[in-house]
Amino acid sequence: MTAIATVLADLEAHRGWLEDLYVDFHRHPELSSAETRTAGVIRDQLGGFGYEVHDIGGGVVGVLARGQGPTVLMRADIDGLPVVERTGLDYASTATSTDPDGDTVGVMHACGHDVHITALLGAARLLAEAPEDTWRGTFIALFQPAEETAAGAAAMVEDGLVGKIPRPDVALGQHVMPAPAGRVGTLAGPAMSAADSIKVTLHGTGSHGSMPQLSVDPVLLAANVVQRLQAIVSRELAPDDFGVVTVGALNAGTKSNIIPAFATLRINTRAYSKKVRSRLLSSIERIVHAECEAARSPEPPEFEYYDQFPLTDNDAEVTDLVTTAFRRHFGEDRVMAPNRLSGSEDFSRIPDAFGTPYTYWLLGGFTEDAERVPNHSPFFAPVPHPTLTTGVEAIVVAGLAYLAPEE
Ligand code: ZN
Ligand code: ZN
Repeated sequence: MTAIATVLADLEAHRGWLEDLYVDFHRHPELSSAETRTAGVIRDQLGGFGYEVHDIGGGVVGVLARGQGPTVLMRADIDGLPVVERTGLDYASTATSTDPDGDTVGVMHACGHDVHITALLGAARLLAEAPEDTWRGTFIALFQPAEETAAGAAAMVEDGLVGKIPRPDVALGQHVMPAPAGRVGTLAGPAMSAADSIKVTLHGTGSHGSMPQLSVDPVLLAANVVQRLQAIVSRELAPDDFGVVTVGALNAGTKSNIIPAFATLRINTRAYSKKVRSRLLSSIERIVHAECEAARSPEPPEFEYYDQFPLTDNDAEVTDLVTTAFRRHFGEDRVMAPNRLSGSEDFSRIPDAFGTPYTYWLLGGFTEDAERVPNHSPFFAPVPHPTLTTGVEAIVVAGLAYLAPEE
């Protein structure tokens, strides 16, 4: 029997446990950076399987060492979203919470992070229960808070992650997507975009609406900035370089006859390379400064960067090894060849902190004929079976490609 077959031998027997665990997480979602109950359940489970358990930066890390061999880290994100669930499932969330602004909001696992937690706990259990000689090395199950706000991976790194656990030789992650359940797939190179949000404050001089000569009008200034920013992608990037610049919010003024004193813009950018990313950001700053100068703005503009996501850049060698293992285990027809996603993830901050290569794959979560509901929708409802068992298998198969390589 292969190592994979040995580790997965009890998967069917554990299916009830796995689905109960999933329903429990789904019913009890928590907002980013407030995942205390979730972390508690994870901590108890990992301890029960015999893992050495660490609390790091709001996350939980389990380490299971089985002698000399490679170290494999698998990451799951654990936060929910401020979304009122409308799936109609009998285990739908009715949770509410207080958000950072003090407002009461509904909370839902609308991005499927409950699938990620459950699958990683399932794989962690099977790897721990497998006979001692099935695999050699160290398996690290890392549960990360606050992916949705891009704060969680950074918080774990800042809390000393690198010094507290063994250095992984390879890092792995997965995300459930609107694709058929039972399928997995990854791609080499930039798989998900780098993202930045910037709040820009433009200063003017307020005046009566009838006396524009005494003003520096920040409304006109903001309009010119918005127009000019759209020339970055169209005129400064090569046609085959991907980049997005979106002005998602423009706020200024209150009344028709008052010229306000300032305007604010909220800008979002996406890129698949560090070069394009830094070009977008430097061009935005250059254009804003120049337009402020042109408008006689009385004070320099202010830039506040937030919700910054790094590039997810899958290592070619790791991706190839994992894809080969997926094909051998699942069969060709269950291995997807996904396109790059314009969405973003903070996963890569963890392997990057160790200088470790990684791959991040996608996991299907819906029936073949189901209407494709996107992540973050109040209707996002992955089917527990076979999504959970496929998620467990993918982790075991990718992990054992290192911990028990087949020759
Ligand atoms: Zn999400
Ligand atoms: Zn997500």
